[in-house]
Amino acid sequence: MQFSYVNPTQIQFGQGQIASIPSLLPADAKVLVIYGGGSIKRNGVYDQVKEALKDIPWQEFSGVEPNPTKETLDKAVAIVKSEGINFILAVGGGSVIDGSKYVAAASHYDGEGWDILEGKHQVTTAVPLAAVLTLPATGSESNMGAVITRAETHTKLAFLAPAVQPKFAVMDPDVMKTLPERQLVNGIVDAWVHVCEQYLTFPADAMVQDGYAEALLKNLKRLGEQFADRDNDSWRANLMWTANQALNGLIGAGVAQDWATHMIGHELTALYGVDHARSLAIVQPSLLRNQMATKQGKVEQMGRNVFGLADGDDLAERTVQAIEAFFHSLDVATQLTEHESSKAEAIDAIVGQLEQNGMVALGESQAITLNESRQILEKAVA
Ligand code: NAP
Ligand code: FE
Repeated sequence: MQFSYVNPTQIQFGQGQIASIPSLLPADAKVLVIYGGGSIKRNGVYDQVKEALKDIPWQEFSGVEPNPTKETLDKAVAIVKSEGINFILAVGGGSVIDGSKYVAAASHYDGEGWDILEGKHQVTTAVPLAAVLTLPATGSESNMGAVITRAETHTKLAFLAPAVQPKFAVMDPDVMKTLPERQLVNGIVDAWVHVCEQYLTFPADAMVQDGYAEALLKNLKRLGEQFADRDNDSWRANLMWTANQALNGLIGAGVAQDWATHMIGHELTALYGVDHARSLAIVQPSLLRNQMATKQGKVEQMGRNVFGLADGDDLAERTVQAIEAFFHSLDVATQLTEHESSKAEAIDAIVGQLEQNGMVALGESQAITLNESRQILEKAVA
């Protein structure tokens, strides 16, 4: 095992922590607060941020969409550049935080921002940013990843850069009180698949990473089982912290990572507007079955250690069925029904997008070619 690991994001966890923001900002901060469609205005988060920033120069940019678009974010880049902004505060879920990472990086680049997503520009510098998390799911509040959509071409791509990792993240579980059921479920499912993308790969005898991943999966399963009793502080705090730990770099250190479910899922979102988490639930079971030649050992380990299943020849298949049952228990579908074309046309469209975006050798061993993706989609598309 070999890795270099650091997670430099300071976490301010707990009720009332938005008030700690001024003590964490640089002395000369001129802040751009970036947020989404206005949920923060309805639930008091905006007012708390405003109060915290009362002695600090700041302005705002709103309207970042779920699955944030480069087209919208470029308007924020123009503000950062023209107003001399030197700190960005993202207030929202994964979309707002990812979008803010793009704004932070594109503001330190004179070329076309989309170059960052296409790998034509390597991000080495960015406007420093921080996050006030309002939706636990993506882990974006303390990682270096961001996923951005180009609406014009229906292209959804990711970039990774240490320079855009938030300096601090405020995680107050109280902000979750106004989350619709659908978004809470999405958070559980997205975090679940994040763990699996780093855990269901080659066995590496990574006892810390595996044990930790299993603990996180068991938490998510339990939080799902307790969904009816979700209106309490402990449920909210545990989901918020679990979703963060699922994608903060620790369980992925030194182990093979997959991410094919995400890459195929991104195309379902780009083409059909499927919620990010729901796109993953559609792809994951079929992908696991397709990749069983390499994944069987780890899937069986998950069956034993997460679901408590008994050994047997069909343990891997029973584990995938248990994952499907878990998604179904949350009313999350495991097949794509949201397309309006025929099944064959939908699969052609998705495979076409994968090809166009260079997603031709996915997974921890690059074994998921376009042909494999097509076979995965045969089972995943209704
Ligand atoms: P989201 O797209 O950020 O938010 C979904 C919806 O929830 C929005 O309409 C938002 O409304 C609303 N919302 C957020 N907080 C709320 C609250 N406290 N109360 C009421 N409504 C609230 O959802 P997400 O699942 O966090 O992010 C999904 C995006 O992250 C996708 O683009 C996905 O590809 C990406 N992603 C990133 C990573 C990463 O590591 N960076 C990992 C996985 C996925 P407002 O707009 O009004 O706030
Ligand atoms: Fe995700």
